[in-house]
This record gives sequence, C-alpha cells and structure tokens, in this order.
Amino acid sequence: MTSDLIPRIVVVGAGFGGLHAARCLARLPVRITLVDRKNHHTFQPLLYQVATAGLSPGEIAAPIRWIVRGRRNIEVLLGEVQDFDLEQRLVKLPDLELPYDYLIVAAGASHAYFGHDDREPLAPGLNTIEDALEIRRRVLLAFELAERQAASGNGQVQLNFIIVGGGPTGVELAGTLAEISRRVLANEFLSIDPKSTRIILLEGGPRVLPSYPEDLSRSAEEQLRRLGVEVHTSALVTGVEPAAVRIGETRLPAAVTLWAAGVAASLLGRKLGAPVDRAGRVLVNNDLAIPGHPEVFVIGDLAALKDEAGKMLPGVAPVALQQGTATARNIKRDLQGEPRQNFHYLDKGSLATIGRAAAIAQFGKIHISGFVAWLSWLFVHIFFLIGFRNRIIVLIQWAWSYFTYERGARLITGDEQLPSWTALHDQQEHPIEKRRA
Ligand SMILES: Cc1cc2nc3c(=O)[nH]c(=O)nc-3n(C[C@H](O)[C@H](O)[C@H](O)COP(=O)(O)OP(=O)(O)OC[C@H]3O[C@@H](n4cnc5c(N)ncnc54)[C@H](O)[C@@H]3O)c2cc1C
Repeated sequence: MTSDLIPRIVVVGAGFGGLHAARCLARLPVRITLVDRKNHHTFQPLLYQVATAGLSPGEIAAPIRWIVRGRRNIEVLLGEVQDFDLEQRLVKLPDLELPYDYLIVAAGASHAYFGHDDREPLAPGLNTIEDALEIRRRVLLAFELAERQAASGNGQVQLNFIIVGGGPTGVELAGTLAEISRRVLANEFLSIDPKSTRIILLEGGPRVLPSYPEDLSRSAEEQLRRLGVEVHTSALVTGVEPAAVRIGETRLPAAVTLWAAGVAASLLGRKLGAPVDRAGRVLVNNDLAIPGHPEVFVIGDLAALKDEAGKMLPGVAPVALQQGTATARNIKRDLQGEPRQNFHYLDKGSLATIGRAAAIAQFGKIHISGFVAWLSWLFVHIFFLIGFRNRIIVLIQWAWSYFTYERGARLITGDEQLPSWTALHDQQEHPIEKRRA
C-alpha cells in the first residue's frame, strides 16, 4: 500500500468505463487519480450528430473535472499515459510517475486502418470530437466548393459521399448524410442541386449491421435505401485515393470518403504485458483483472472477455459501464476482506439508429424497426447524456430539427481545402486524358 495507508487507485481513461468506475469508487475510503489525455468525457454514441452538424461539441461532451466536482477524493489529471511498471506499481506519463495500489485501465478503442494508415488523411474515422469536426468540415465544404465551381461556370461536380463500413457508425453517418442532402440543404443552393448527391455505403461483408440478427439487418438496409442511401454489400474496399475509392477493378469517384470499417484497442493494452487478442484487447480474467496481477484491472473496449455462452462481449457503452461498477465492487470486497465476484454482463438490448424516424432495436427475442425503435433510441441516448442541461438542450434540438429539418451547427471551421477537390475537378474536365494518365 502507498505511504499514507489510504489505498491509491489510478484510473486511466475517463470514458464510459473509467469515469463510472471512479464515480463508484469515490464512495469508498480511497484516493483516486483519474487520468485522461483529453479534458473532457465524450458521449461517443452522439458523435455522428456533431459530424453531421446536428449538435455542437459542448452538447455531447463535458469537462471531466466538472463531472466529478464535489468528490474530494478524485484528483483529475490531464495527460497521456505512455507506459506502466507493474513491478514497481507505477503509471508513467511523460513528466510524471503515478504510484498505485490498484490500477484500472480503461483507455478504450479507436477506428483502425489495419496496415493502411496512409488512408487516414483521405478517409477520416469517427472517434473523438476532433474527428467529428473534421468530418463536418469536409461534408459542408464539399457542398460549398461544388456551388462555387458551378457558379463560376466551371460545370457541376457530381458529389459522391462514400462511407466505408456498414456497422452502426457507418449506417448512422450514411442515413444522416442522406437526410442532409435530400432535406436540410435541398433549397439553400442556387447553382447545384444537393438532392443529386450520392450517398454510398460500402460494406465488405454480406449485410449491414452484421452484429444484429438478419431480419434487422435487412430492415436497416431497406430503411437506408428509403432515405436515399445506395447500399453495396460484399464490396471490399481495396484502395482509397484522394478523390476515389477502389473496389477491385471498380473505381468510385468520391468528394468525401469516411472510414467506419474497423476498430482496434488502445495501444496501452499491449504495455501491460498481458496476452491480447487480434484487435489488441487485453484477455482479462473473469473478475476483469489481468493474469498474475490481481491489482490491475482492464475494462471497457480495451478488455476481451467472453460471456457465459462463450460469446465475446461487444464494445458498447453498457458493457463498459457495468464493468466499471463491477470493478469498483471488487475493490470494495478486497478492502473488506471478502472474495471477489466474476463479471456478468446484463444485456438490456441493443439499438442502432439509421436516420430520421429510422432505427432498429433488439430486446431479447423482440425485434423492432422504424419509428418506435428510433423513439426508444432517442430516449435512451438522452437519458444517458451527461448533465441535465445537455439532456434538455439535445431534446429541444432534436424536436426542432424533427419538425423543421434544420441542423443548427453547420459551421465550417478550419481550412478550406478538401483532399479530393483538385483531382475531382480534373477528372470532370478531362475525364479521358486523366484515365489514361
Ligand atoms: C462513433 C461511435 C459511436 C458509438 N455508438 C455507440 C452506441 O450507440 N451505443 C453504445 O453502446 N456504444 C456506442 N459506441 C461504443 C462506446 O462508445 C464504447 O463502447 C465506449 O465508449 C467504451 O468505453 P471505454 O471506457 O472502454 O472507452 P472510451 O469511452 O473510448 O474512453 C477511453 C478514454 O481513454 C482516454 N485515453 C485513451 N488513451 C489514453 C492514454 N494513453 N492516456 C490517457 N487517456 C487515454 C480517452 O481520451 C478516452 O477518454 C460508439 C463508439 C463510437 C466511436
């Protein structure tokens, strides 16, 4: 135990898992240090709303310091953890070493390009507020550049938005981009017709939302098509260029390409020296501690654990939250000299939104699609948002945009360059020569 005999717990990551664990632990006679490389907790399920100009960053993220205010035994530190010394029980930051009696690592996961990192600048993914703002910038800028080009008499560019990956993030981005082009921007431009924008969703596997039952995947695909999305399944992307995506021999021109095709665990997992799976997730014991180190827990998206049926637990917020609670309880049991309990995930169902009044939901054997699923999705997400103010603001924003089709956060920030633009323009002007080149 560290010098002052009050157990010191370091929590790495203030996402769903780490933040929840810290809040549960704050009720115990312990000192907690919560470290995150950002000063804010992000409600990732609503990131796509920031990326598509429906919400502003402050409505889905909140300062960590503010969230845990009033809990005098939680110290919040802004900094990037780089390594661990499990023998000395130290967490290493560039300029600081934090001793611990218990360590909870909840550093999450991020989108991944699996050996094709050169695709990142051409096809950004969605994991942080910064990513969302970059996607928003590219999408809105594409319409502006197309309007400017058409207005200056240089011809119309066919705007194609390509989303790679038909999981929940790809589906919600595609559905919302369709709504933006068909409804939100439909009457705001004079020289281009935003409705002619093609929203193309590419999924390498045989169906979208593969983690859902087949009937719900089918329903999601139908709902996407109704919103105006072109869905291509079994379409394995083999290359990403500045203004195009390649699927084998086929080359699809793209004004904006977005990446929603893979997830890899934080590299911090590998620094623990415990076994990891192919996605870099740490293989934890049933009490969420790592083998040989009962004082080190890994939770949330960074942990790999199977349920009683042998199925890998999904990387979703409820798993991270429940693991946060379970870890806090096991530390409490340790302190009281009681035996630990194994983690059991209580699956309350899953929901995926597709767009306005379009969603799918699975509650055990009950499968729901359409408006009712969308309403359930909406209320669940508002309920879990951090901060009463945010819940009210988001509810009002959604009600407003539901009836008016307005999206209030349509600001282009950052520079006014699109990686695709020059190439798209050249393709348009000299299509044959360019193809030969
Ligand atoms: C776009 C998107 C949409 C999603 N939609 C849904 C949904 O609708 N429903 C659902 O249930 N789940 C959804 N998820 C998944 C859900 O957000 C994750 O399962 C959940 O966030 C996992 O929680 P976590 O605590 O493990 O990690 P995270 O919430 O990702 O938190 C990790 C934290 O660790 C910090 N961190 C990382 N590395 C370091 C470091 N080296 N040093 C210090 N701090 C570090 C990060 O800044 C972050 O705050 C979505 C995820 C994304 C990206």
